[in-house]
Amino acid sequence: MDTSRRSLMALYAHPDDEVFGSGGTTALESERGTRVVLVVATGGEAGEVVNPELRSSVDLKDLPRIRQEELACSARALGIGEVVNLGYHDSGMAGTPENQRPDAFMNADEDAVAGRLVELIRHYRPQVLFTFDSTGGYGHPDHLMIHRSAHLAFDRAGDGSWYPEAGPPWQPARLFYVSIVREQLQAVRQDLVSRNIPLESGFETMSEEEFARLGTPRDEVTTVVDIRSTLSRKLAAFRCYETQVASNFFYFQVSEDVLGEEFFTLAATSVEGPPPAHDLFEGLSVGG
Ligand SMILES: [Zn+2]
Repeated sequence: MDTSRRSLMALYAHPDDEVFGSGGTTALESERGTRVVLVVATGGEAGEVVNPELRSSVDLKDLPRIRQEELACSARALGIGEVVNLGYHDSGMAGTPENQRPDAFMNADEDAVAGRLVELIRHYRPQVLFTFDSTGGYGHPDHLMIHRSAHLAFDRAGDGSWYPEAGPPWQPARLFYVSIVREQLQAVRQDLVSRNIPLESGFETMSEEEFARLGTPRDEVTTVVDIRSTLSRKLAAFRCYETQVASNFFYFQVSEDVLGEEFFTLAATSVEGPPPAHDLFEGLSVGG
């Protein structure tokens, strides 16, 4: 594995997680020549067909296959070179019957999951990792599971006494959490309201007070990436998820000038220096 090249590993739970908070950054890095590897823990089998236009025509039995095709389409749109599926079953939302399945990702052994991630980190040798923050975006049990396992894997991959069978140690330089920023959510809502576009995705049922508490305050994130040049690729990746994303999804309707940034928070690092302001690889001694 060529370690002089910039290499990025995104650690997520379901097909489509890779788009919302980090798709623009991923596309930007791939344009810079960074090798991008996406690790997805489950097949997203518990997702419903949310797109009303497709609900009657899609057989739920086919959903696992369709979601893999959607993921492959998204990976192409975002310049993701390699997708690794860990093969766990989607646990469904908290409180749903899928939670009880023995093969559900949330019921997997955390040390064992971390061991599989360590093996991938040692194989691909990324300098930068990112994953969900401790809220899992919105509390999905699979998002919380990948968050915890990614953190363990970052801490253990460089220590050969952990998982000695998983290959020679490799210590990534930085682990970031992907942050959904409060001020951006508010700007999105304001933009839609001001142009009389109906709110959806749960925004409409939320009180002003609830909405005001959503997301991470902007001054708490460490790294803001300008994704204006790759926003069209991010939108193209969303369009790959025909079963998951309705054609009136707010992302397709909101003014592009409120979607031009993605936000990351440095969660762990093995290198000296302050967190990077605008580039996940800033200050690291690797090729471009
Ligand atoms: Zn998800």
